Amino acid sequence: MHNTTWVEFSAEALRHNITTVRRLAPEAAILAMVKGNGYGHGANWVTQTLLQCQRPFCQGVAVARLNEAQRLREHYPSGRLLLLGTLVDLPLLEQCANLQLDLVVHNLASATLISKASLPAPLVIWLKHNVGMNRLGMNREDFIAAHKLLANCEQVSSLHHMSHFSEADDVNSEATAQQISRLTSLSKSLGEHPKSMANSAAIIAHPNSHAQWVRPGIMLYGDDPTGNLADTALAPVMRFKTRILDIHELAAGEGVGYNRRWRTTVPSRIATLAVGYADGYPRHAPDGTPVLIRGKRAPIAGRVSMDLSTIDVSHIPEAAIGDEVTLWGEGLSAAEVGQHCGTISYELFTRITDRVARIYD
Ligand SMILES: *Cc1c(COP(=O)(O)O)cnc(C)c1O
Repeated sequence: MHNTTWVEFSAEALRHNITTVRRLAPEAAILAMVKGNGYGHGANWVTQTLLQCQRPFCQGVAVARLNEAQRLREHYPSGRLLLLGTLVDLPLLEQCANLQLDLVVHNLASATLISKASLPAPLVIWLKHNVGMNRLGMNREDFIAAHKLLANCEQVSSLHHMSHFSEADDVNSEATAQQISRLTSLSKSLGEHPKSMANSAAIIAHPNSHAQWVRPGIMLYGDDPTGNLADTALAPVMRFKTRILDIHELAAGEGVGYNRRWRTTVPSRIATLAVGYADGYPRHAPDGTPVLIRGKRAPIAGRVSMDLSTIDVSHIPEAAIGDEVTLWGEGLSAAEVGQHCGTISYELFTRITDRVARIYD
């Protein structure tokens, strides 16, 4: 028997999902987003699994922090590894050169620093244009200046142009079309350079954004941020599981959990689960948030605590101590759980804590 609380990862589901990326974007190279420890799936495992696919769909991976890149490099010695927008200084540039990391440059000061630096090896630079999110990226003027500084500079072996959409998941928004044309026209005015715009939502909903490199994240892990794809197009890679520790038969009028938030209005069977917020199950899960047990849904009933949660299984008389419970995974998506909890699958995936056993198949 497994631990009381564990998370399973399916290599087959991951391979299935990247095949869907390839089908949707047949011409583009795929840069798999493995930041946030592979969206909580294990950056190293995700990278290895994608590289070991029979058909090598994945041409590189990207992370957000230098320490993520350093850790991954130990197991992934030579492939393309992009470090997304970070604080750029000379030591960082040297690290990038030594580890052969591609680097996103999102301001002119960083481009200037690179143009003047003396580095042990030239870098592959991805210049980022701000197309509307106003988070990271250069305006037109600075982008052009940075491009000119770096286009023929010996510290740079090749230049890519990139941007990031603010709302590609909103398929009715006109903003994405504008954001596509902003990068495309600016890039074109500077010559032929590989371009990259599309996150998962744009891969699915905006084929004209695919360009030379697509950057799928959440769809690799099985969530469709647009809701547009057929159910079978993506499969959940992560299954978060626990077991029933105990069951209580309660009369009407009893309370359950801290502050007795849940009150029974009829005689009820309450099952206690071996999962809490110290495992990464959200404390703010309201009553009614579903879990899956013996193929049926049961609602959270009472406040989630550090190690334990309670669910109402009055309608599942066969539920028994020791039963396996799916918190999200097959049959219950993290996106649906996220909707109850006021969050998204991305956050749920990245919050599973260390004490939860990882089982890779
Ligand atoms: C995380 C990230 C992505 C992937 O986004 P998804 O919505 O998970 O597909 C793409 N590009 C950049 C720059 C990112 O930071």
